[in-house]
Amino acid sequence: MAIQSVRGFNDLLGEELARFRRASSVVRSVLERHNFEEILLPVVEYAELFQRSIGEITDIVQKEMFLFKDRKGRLLALRPEGTAGAVRAFLEHKFYAERPYTKLFYEGPMFRYERPQSGRYRQFHQIGAELFGVAEPSADAEIISVVYELLKELEIDSVIEINSLGCKECRPPYREALKEFLAQKEEHLCKDCLGRKDRNPLRVLDCKEKSCKLAVSDAPKMVDYLCDSCKEHYSQLKELLTHINIPFRENFNLVRGLDYYTRTVFEAVSDSLGITVVAGGRYDYLVQELGGPPTPALGFAVGVERLALLLKDIPKPKELYVVIPFGDVLPYALKVAKALRSKGKRVEFSYRRGGLRKQLDFANRLGAKYAVIIGEDEAKEGVVSLKDMDSGEQKKVKI
Ligand SMILES: [Zn+2]
Ligand SMILES: [Zn+2]
Repeated sequence: MAIQSVRGFNDLLGEELARFRRASSVVRSVLERHNFEEILLPVVEYAELFQRSIGEITDIVQKEMFLFKDRKGRLLALRPEGTAGAVRAFLEHKFYAERPYTKLFYEGPMFRYERPQSGRYRQFHQIGAELFGVAEPSADAEIISVVYELLKELEIDSVIEINSLGCKECRPPYREALKEFLAQKEEHLCKDCLGRKDRNPLRVLDCKEKSCKLAVSDAPKMVDYLCDSCKEHYSQLKELLTHINIPFRENFNLVRGLDYYTRTVFEAVSDSLGITVVAGGRYDYLVQELGGPPTPALGFAVGVERLALLLKDIPKPKELYVVIPFGDVLPYALKVAKALRSKGKRVEFSYRRGGLRKQLDFANRLGAKYAVIIGEDEAKEGVVSLKDMDSGEQKKVKI
């Protein structure tokens, strides 16, 4: 039996790939307009980087990482997300010492060992941006505006939801209040939430199970527990977003799945499909936790496959010209093909010889818009016979 692709690792091709490329190029151009600089990060990192950044008690680290040992026995991981690697690079290249602040973006495959029935791939692609060294809410507003612009440019209907998760000072008391609240709701919580209500109670807030959703509908809200400086940061952000006309709504149950977030978190949610399209937030302690100097930071990541799926218009490939040499005209026909290509046309050269009818049939099967027929007469006159494959119209033209 022929060898199959690995489950969850799929080929991207055809229309799906055209959508993928379009989504990617729009995101990239919006990021470049905002002066984010690309960094190409490696796919493999030390597993410890993710254990320390994403957090030991998250699903990603506990169940979803592709782990393996190299020949020297060091534990490595295929990256499950991009932020940890970006922070690692930020530290390794000492950007914090050289630049007033740093704006990076990355693109590439990520890997998670997800249950295949969830419809997700184990290799998927993300583009993410990270902004290091700015604590001001204007940075939050800019990141959210990048997200807003790229969705607008891709014509994806979505709503931006924001929340604040507070800081080291104000989150612990909130966590305790939430734990107390959840202790009263045990009989309504799903199995996953029973497991995490003490270790990671905030995650219960964004559980998708109906009974959990209902149970937390009147849970205490982080925004009511924010310390003065977090409160100030959050209200300034909302003010800025209003000033620059970015529509948003507050979602007090928005917590994001990863441990490292602080203060602002946000998502763009497709209202029609009810799925998250883009997600991000602040992670003001992560750089320090990974061994760097205290550096406020924030960012977002977007799944390219997911964006691609939501695109309305797909870019059409360029019209195809098929050059058909007929008779002893090969050098001239090759020259014609070269000339067309140098003008930016998409050109196929009919390698096979055969009757004109057979060749035209071949051009048709390739999806040609034009057949460029070159017989000995055309070669002598220095022209071609251009046949429009849709209308059947044919005329002699100079190339
Ligand atoms: Zn605070
Ligand atoms: Zn639940």
